Amino acid sequence: MGTWILETDKAIYWMEDQYYIDKIDKSPLSNGEYHVVVSTMKDWFNSQTPPGLMKIVLGDVKEPAHKLVNHGHGSGHAKTPTVKFIPADDSNYNSRNGTKIDMIIMHNTDANLQAAINTFKDPKSQVSAHYIVARSGDIIQMVRDTYRAWHAGDRLINSRSIGIEHEATNTNRGMTPAQEQSSITLVKYLIEAYDISITNIRPHRDVSTITGGTDCPRWIWSTNVDFEKWKQTHLS
Ligand SMILES: [Zn+2]
Repeated sequence: MGTWILETDKAIYWMEDQYYIDKIDKSPLSNGEYHVVVSTMKDWFNSQTPPGLMKIVLGDVKEPAHKLVNHGHGSGHAKTPTVKFIPADDSNYNSRNGTKIDMIIMHNTDANLQAAINTFKDPKSQVSAHYIVARSGDIIQMVRDTYRAWHAGDRLINSRSIGIEHEATNTNRGMTPAQEQSSITLVKYLIEAYDISITNIRPHRDVSTITGGTDCPRWIWSTNVDFEKWKQTHLS
């Protein structure tokens, strides 16, 4: 039951009840229709030949653009966070090349929310993260989970992780109560969606391999001991 979506570079796969839909053309035709391939799950699994091409009106397929994906893993107990999607520039992220997601890397923005958003929208910055948790408690998604965002300062870590930024600076340290609640909801959701172990939720400073390293996320967790304590309190 429900909706299951997998987004790749070329297509969005959408499954509802017993139907499988492969939306092969991401841009609508001039009359608002999309080219899609529709088949039943049974036919899709049994057949090597592609099912027939047909057209449907956009209104018949709910666009997944502003909706978090239900990955169909886990026991389904985690609350689904509400996110607002503001896309990062597409030159600031790329493909995971099939690497399975099994880590979450926690960051602080060291900038206010708008500045962080602007950085990820700027093609010159060559950085991004999947989510930003604002001091207001809003969760902004900028890169879909299926893509490799560039946040960890380590290519292999980026391939296997989800990057979560938290709006905090030297003068706005720690998290607001609303922000902390949103962060916990988001992290718990991702743990369940991707079956991530608590051990694999790491502060940025732990995984960066670039020269000089980083103290991120020092404005929220000044030491790794603080970070571990927070995990034990809120996630275990
Ligand atoms: Zn960081």
